[in-house]
Amino acid sequence: MVKTVFLGIDLGGTNTKVALVDQEGTILERSIIPTRAMRKAEEVVKDIASEAMKLRRRFEERGFRVQAAGIGIPGLIDWEKGICLLLPNFPNKWKEIPIREWLEEELSLPVAVINDVRAITLAEKRFGVGKEVQSLVMMAIGTGIGGGVVLNGDLYIGKDGSAGEFGHITVEPNGLRCGCGSRGCLEAYSSGPAMVAQALRALVQQNDTLIRDTVGDDLSRVNPKVIAEAAQKGDGVAIEIIERAGSYIGQALSCICVVVNPEMIVIGGGVAQAGELLFKSIRQGLQERLFMIPVDTIQFVPAQLGMDAGAVGTATWAKERLEKGVIG
Ligand SMILES: [Zn+2]
Repeated sequence: MVKTVFLGIDLGGTNTKVALVDQEGTILERSIIPTRAMRKAEEVVKDIASEAMKLRRRFEERGFRVQAAGIGIPGLIDWEKGICLLLPNFPNKWKEIPIREWLEEELSLPVAVINDVRAITLAEKRFGVGKEVQSLVMMAIGTGIGGGVVLNGDLYIGKDGSAGEFGHITVEPNGLRCGCGSRGCLEAYSSGPAMVAQALRALVQQNDTLIRDTVGDDLSRVNPKVIAEAAQKGDGVAIEIIERAGSYIGQALSCICVVVNPEMIVIGGGVAQAGELLFKSIRQGLQERLFMIPVDTIQFVPAQLGMDAGAVGTATWAKERLEKGVIG
């Protein structure tokens, strides 16, 4: 019997993951290639396609049939036209890159394009921590802060695919300038780079902190993991940075909760691995601001699918777009 599978591509600033995923969300095989994002977009896409074709051929020889491909993009996209509008963390920004058209040509397959965190949200809903709920919001805290919304059992992406851009909720009117052009966005206070900036300030001000013991004179070694480790050892500066970040995230989540009234809040992303203190601070920030909904009725959980969620989510997005007749 022919087994139907989907290609899931998770485009990252450093590495890109290409995976073959079955209909139950299981990865049959994955391949990770360096993105080398300083190159022209066309060259990057060609490399991804050639890796995908290798996987595809190997599986088709074994009787599998690849039906469609999905790609998750770390940035702003026109998801209907399949065009990258802006990838802020890529050196040449990928403005107006018709990635769907290029990939469809190279792969001879229907291709669906989605924002990377929206893809993770879909994976967590279908196969991860959100399987049993009809509504959830996911927030991924990393270099940026992204998110996704599930309503009535389905991913809700909004008119332009931007539903879930939680990093750009205002938490401080007239606050710090954000990469998006606005001021006081959550991302400017609680993302990995925002936390690192606060640690650097403490170091430059010669504050007493264990972070200095770890990095010595090399300030480029300050990262969220170093801050989290210092906090775990009881370092006051590090604890304050994480508590502040968590408090702002809780504040933003309180706004999201009164709009969506979700059954579940899922926290993911690299910085979320900072551990219990961040979770506690987020929850406390939420509790301090959310009065319309009893906070203890909302399930508050870490993401479950880990590093593979992006590839699983993009493959699943391709499958569902195909089933709905949107692509193909
Ligand atoms: Zn912003």
